[in-house]
Amino acid sequence: MLHGLDRLLATIEGGTLDEAALYRQERLYRGPARRAGAPGVLECPICGQRAARFLRFGLAGRRNAQCPGCGSVERHRMLWLYLGQHTDLLRARHRVLHTAPESCFEARLRARPNLRYRSVDRYNPAADVQADLIDLPFADGDFDVLLTSHVLEHIRDDRAAMAELARVVQPGGWAVVMVPYDPRRPRTEEGADIDDPAERMARFGHPFHFRIYGADLSARLAEVGFDATVIDSRRLFSPHRRRRFRINRNYLLRCRRVG
Ligand SMILES: [Zn+2]
Repeated sequence: MLHGLDRLLATIEGGTLDEAALYRQERLYRGPARRAGAPGVLECPICGQRAARFLRFGLAGRRNAQCPGCGSVERHRMLWLYLGQHTDLLRARHRVLHTAPESCFEARLRARPNLRYRSVDRYNPAADVQADLIDLPFADGDFDVLLTSHVLEHIRDDRAAMAELARVVQPGGWAVVMVPYDPRRPRTEEGADIDDPAERMARFGHPFHFRIYGADLSARLAEVGFDATVIDSRRLFSPHRRRRFRINRNYLLRCRRVG
């Protein structure tokens, strides 16, 4: 989330900053813009940047959150380490679909000779395909791997998007899903009918988010054919590695496409 998003709210409410423009800023399409500091003990596992401090990021200006080299934040570093160490994504041949591609990953994945990589985004003109996730221009089972991080909460009808994503992943394939997720909430808190960005900001922490997922997320994914396992960053990485790579309490869902 952008630092200072609360200050943008009046502009959003006034209709002069639309959803596409906000996402262009939020998703760091332009990549890293700031200078790296002195080398130090923190290390970005994506770009290799070492620094004494990372940059502030997010609504509350989280300290040491953003890598000055590649622009990654905590969840990106968790995902990258997970993909490299707990999957064969970087070694085996896969057809990969990446939704709303993060700039810190996109070029690195696209360059892998073992991958046939496609990115899709509703708003980003640099993505391979501009499409809405509830209506994808791909055939059934076109992909072996799906990467989707912090996208589903932006979609009013997320069940339709999940179903469409499951359709294009072949049975036996797998997905990694990341969303705002709080396992202490038994049920997803949502407001798909809320039109007011200020109300969505107040309830979900972002003017274009429709929900914060709870422990029922796995059941929601199961409805469309994704058998999901929740993976907690605190179980995945030692405290030393979490400090070194600046990874906070975070979750990803590893899903197997059943069919
Ligand atoms: Zn980096």
